[in-house]
Parts: sequence; structure tokens; C-alpha cells
Amino acid sequence: MKILLLDIETAPTTCYTWRMWKANIGQDMIIEGGYMISCAMKWLGEDGVFYYENRGHDDAFLTTKVLEMMEQADYVVAHNAEKFDVPYIKYRAVVNQLPPPSPFKVIDTLRIARKEFLFSRNTLANLAIELGVEAKFEHSEFSGFKLWKECLNGNDEAWKVMKHYNIQDVITLEQVYLKLRPWSKEHPNVTIENESSEFHCPKCGSDSIHLRGYTYTNSSKYHKYVCRDCGGWSRTRYTTNSLKQRKVLLRSA
Ligand SMILES: [Zn+2]
Repeated sequence: MKILLLDIETAPTTCYTWRMWKANIGQDMIIEGGYMISCAMKWLGEDGVFYYENRGHDDAFLTTKVLEMMEQADYVVAHNAEKFDVPYIKYRAVVNQLPPPSPFKVIDTLRIARKEFLFSRNTLANLAIELGVEAKFEHSEFSGFKLWKECLNGNDEAWKVMKHYNIQDVITLEQVYLKLRPWSKEHPNVTIENESSEFHCPKCGSDSIHLRGYTYTNSSKYHKYVCRDCGGWSRTRYTTNSLKQRKVLLRSA
């Protein structure tokens, strides 16, 4: 299974506005809509980051490059993938009249963070700090929105910083994802194509798993396993209850 991690950066919408707070911006006040300005991608567990940027206003080439990578992916991982990165890429694809990539499953680290934990903040930067995987950034003169503004003004130094941040973010994303993965109960099963007769961890694919007793649902008993590599738990699909036991088992009504 090929797992692609990605992080996109986008240009803001440029518009006229009378107000800065609770502004109601009409269609005819838009000067230019947003578009994709860069994307960093890497395959899980492989060295090397693929980075593409778009210094112009036409993101067709950049979107094509992103779709080419997604085409090869079985899973796409991003922080806020479900509500931002993936729908934004699809938005740019349809606007640029590009066809949809072959189907893939989405793994959203923000969704895992919100569902399983109570971090003080769920931003990628904060998760990285709290999980001890934060990158050491060199000080940059372009802080906050200034970086975007200078990139859009064609400042080469700002683009170097954008590239550095974008690449570093996808490396951090991989480290955060690996820390969260064993905790995710919704994680897709990466061993679905496994043809061996051995058990494998459904989260990371390792065959180094250990039988650790039983787990129960309201109607069945299953063997449970813990992964020696990622620490995640899993259980068998088939119950250990005999047919005789199942026939007389009552459930509350
Ligand atoms: Zn595992």
C-alpha cells in the first residue's frame, strides 16, 4: 500500500472591502480568487520530498503534478486533509479541467487528534511540539502573512523560506502521523492485500504482533493482538464463541 503525505500552500483571495470585521464581500468585489502556490509531498517511510511551486497565477501545472502523485497513492495523509487539502486540490483540478485521480482513502491527522486526544491545540505545529518532533526553524525575516505577501510579490528570498517551511511541514506531518497512528481506531487497514497466512498489524503492516488475550463486543469474544513495532491494538474478525454459545447468547433489548 502506498501512503502519500502532503501539505499544500495557497494564495489568498484578493478583494476590495470596506470593512475589516464581518465584511460581506460580493462577487464583484473579488479581484482574484485563491489558487495553489506550492505543495510538498513524500511517500511514507521513503527518503526524499517532492516539492513543486507556482510563482505565477495559473496553478494548472502544479495541480497536475499533485494529481500525478495522488494517482499512485492508496492513502493520502494530511493535517486537515478532509476539510482543506484534499477538497482544495479537487477544486483546483476541476477548475483547471483536469480529471479526478484514481480513488484513494484519506487519513486526516487533525481528525485523529480531535477524536482521540485533548491536546491544548490541534495545530500541526503544536502537536509537533507536544510530541517532541518539532523542527528547528532558522529565524526568518518573513513572519506570518508577510511571507505570503512577499512570495506573491515575487521575492526570491521569501520563496526560499516558503519552500523550506513547506518541505519541513510534510516531514513533521510524517512524524506526527506515526505518533498518532497506533491510537487511531478508524485507521484504514493497510494489510488488505496481504496474502500470507500470518497475522499482520492492520495499522502499520508489521508481522511482529503478539497475542494478548481477548476483547469483547456485546455479542462476541475475539483474540486481541498488540503490535511490537507501532504499539497499536487489533483483533481477529472471527469470534472465538462456539455456535452453541452464540445460539443461547441473549442481548439486552
Ligand atoms: Zn503496528
